[in-house]
Amino acid sequence: MSSVLDDLQARAKAVGMVHGARVDALDETQGAREALSAIARAGLTAWCVPARFGGADARPLCAADMVSVRAMCALRQELAWHSPMLDVMLVMQGLGSYALALGGAPELQASVLPRIARGELVGAFALTEPDAGSSLNEVALRATRRGDAWVLDGTKTFISNCGLADVICVLARTSGVPGESGGTTMFYVSGQAKGLEAKRFEVTSPHPIGEYRFNEVIVPDSQRLGEIGAGTDLALSVLARFRTSVAAAANGFARRALYESCNRLRARKQFGKPLASFQALRFDIADMDVRVRAAELLVDEAARLVDEGADATAAVARAKYYATEGASWVCDRAVQHFGGLGVKRGEIVERLWRDVRALRIYEGTSEVQKLVLAKQILG
Ligand SMILES: Cc1cc2nc3c(=O)[nH]c(=O)nc-3n(C[C@H](O)[C@H](O)[C@H](O)COP(=O)(O)OP(=O)(O)OC[C@H]3O[C@@H](n4cnc5c(N)ncnc54)[C@H](O)[C@@H]3O)c2cc1C
Repeated sequence: MSSVLDDLQARAKAVGMVHGARVDALDETQGAREALSAIARAGLTAWCVPARFGGADARPLCAADMVSVRAMCALRQELAWHSPMLDVMLVMQGLGSYALALGGAPELQASVLPRIARGELVGAFALTEPDAGSSLNEVALRATRRGDAWVLDGTKTFISNCGLADVICVLARTSGVPGESGGTTMFYVSGQAKGLEAKRFEVTSPHPIGEYRFNEVIVPDSQRLGEIGAGTDLALSVLARFRTSVAAAANGFARRALYESCNRLRARKQFGKPLASFQALRFDIADMDVRVRAAELLVDEAARLVDEGADATAAVARAKYYATEGASWVCDRAVQHFGGLGVKRGEIVERLWRDVRALRIYEGTSEVQKLVLAKQILG
């Protein structure tokens, strides 16, 4: 089993070393396309789709034919070490298509998922709205039944791969009013659908992201994902499979920051000595190492539980919260070790510090993870 993970890690490392710096330097659209093509050529996107739909056979790692969380974590930690763009393009292939793997009609699955696995189609997962973030109960994008089709109207925002995606899994309200639980359904919407408008904006790291406006987008009922009214549960099942890998990506950023700090402290001299000889900074390195290693162990535990099909709710929340907060702290210490260079645009630690920030927000903020964990502990 560990040989499968070692092999994946080696393949991700090879892609990262050749393409990482290059794809991050390109504009978002070009960088995203080249990143996807590089990870697809290396066979990594196959790990985002179950084997029965043309993906990699994850059964050595997973209790069932599902996407293996351990595989996703191994890949994301290594890719994030090299490049935030490689990392995000990998996970979006899984996150953006998994609702289809879980709840799509067989013909739709057969026509779309093998192409996602080969990186020929680009995925996106659209939950967040201007008034619906941490609480999916507020989802207001309306899907209204019209004969054997649905008409979608509303706005999704902060959608990764906005304007680039071919396959968008969208959570919509099919009954009730925003603020009520339930009443939602997921749909597969083509990125080329009539009435769909994409508007990009920028965030802290290179990331194709933006807002989708749905203007009477017509979706046949055959593109409904799962049961009517079961949309939020389906969306949460997708998140439950991929959330641990956010923690793994955070560990990738943190490991890189630790590596860069060590190199800098050894090389830079002040007061006639290498910075690495000062005890205050040596203590910092020890603290950074413990934070990263502890986070890796939490990720291993959570990923194993999800792969085994066990109850992983607390373990996943713990890993996501601890790893993303810890990685932010580690990257911040690395900036401090670089002094003025640490905040100079384009320096590696400056980039890591920006890249890691969003991980405490997406796929459930740190506060939401703490709420989930406390509920598991206290009942
Ligand atoms: C880089 C990036 C990529 C993203 N990609 C996607 C994507 O592909 N698809 C998608 O659907 N979304 C995506 N998102 C959106 C992301 O999932 C949301 O930003 C996130 O869920 C938080 O929602 P919000 O921004 O509306 O914040 P809010 O929900 O408004 O929260 C604001 C603050 O209040 C806190 N808060 C909220 N409720 C509580 C509570 N009950 N108790 C304590 N604190 C609370 C939050 O933790 C947060 O600190 C992305 C976001 C980013 C930054």
